[in-house]
Amino acid sequence: MANLGIPQNTIAVLQKYNFNFQKRFGQNFLIDTNVLDKIISSAEITKEDCVLEIGPGIGTMTQYLAESAREVVAVEIDKNLIPILQDTLSAYDNVTIINDDILKVDIAKLVQEKNDGKPIKVVANLPYYITTPIIMGLFESHVPLKSITIMVQKEVADRMQVGPGTKDYGALSLAVQFYAKPQIVANVPPNCFIPRPNVGSAVIKLTRHEEPPVQVKSERFMFDLVRASFNQRRKTLVNGLTNAPNLQLTKEQVLEALDKMGVSAQIRGEALTLEQFGLLSDLLS
Ligand code: SAM
Repeated sequence: MANLGIPQNTIAVLQKYNFNFQKRFGQNFLIDTNVLDKIISSAEITKEDCVLEIGPGIGTMTQYLAESAREVVAVEIDKNLIPILQDTLSAYDNVTIINDDILKVDIAKLVQEKNDGKPIKVVANLPYYITTPIIMGLFESHVPLKSITIMVQKEVADRMQVGPGTKDYGALSLAVQFYAKPQIVANVPPNCFIPRPNVGSAVIKLTRHEEPPVQVKSERFMFDLVRASFNQRRKTLVNGLTNAPNLQLTKEQVLEALDKMGVSAQIRGEALTLEQFGLLSDLLS
């Protein structure tokens, strides 16, 4: 099958199958060979690797992955794409296509079956409507993985990468940076896709930390604190945390913890680093 990164080839496949794009599935297919090469080289795919692709579409990136990896597992929700994928990937015997919702797939079991439980790499041009649940699901369920190299909305890539004191800093930045080292590897304009999305995109590589950069007594409690702080980001941290019903913290407790940390009682959550959230969590838990 011809390289689908070339726009004419993608158009020919779409016409052959009279394919109708489903907006609700976030379908924007890549049609730029430079971007595809860049994704594969940034993900550092080798013939040793087992790769999970989320949302293969018509199989454009899957072709590139199948060429460079030992094994590819591609999970696609849209049943109308399955016969197309069987056609466009017929030349490869190292690709397994699964017709399912990635949020319902037991990925840890898949890793066990396909890679003896050893860490896999995830590569995807993600459906933007579920970017955060996909990433957080992969990290929080502790699926064995080396890295996640994904195309996301540019604004979301920025949020994952920034530190305290910027407007984009928030719960997503802290969650991603707790589990991985983020690095934006390419900015991708709308004309690299068919149909064109309304927003700019970026490829970001998240390399899983072997050890988290902060050790905390309870990850869950720390992230409850993080979420409460950013739910009311204009309020002081003290008010944000004491207003969160699930935390059941008193003003005195929070003030005492901040005092022990040598931090101002007026501080906002958006000024705290991951290490400081870790410390605060251990003091309050
Ligand atoms: N990988 C293809 C490419 O780069 O051209 C398609 C990318 S497109 C942005 C996102 C793909 O994810 C679509 O094929 C869409 O049908 C699929 N998708 C959407 N929601 C999904 C879900 N919950 N689970 C699995 N696949 C999903």
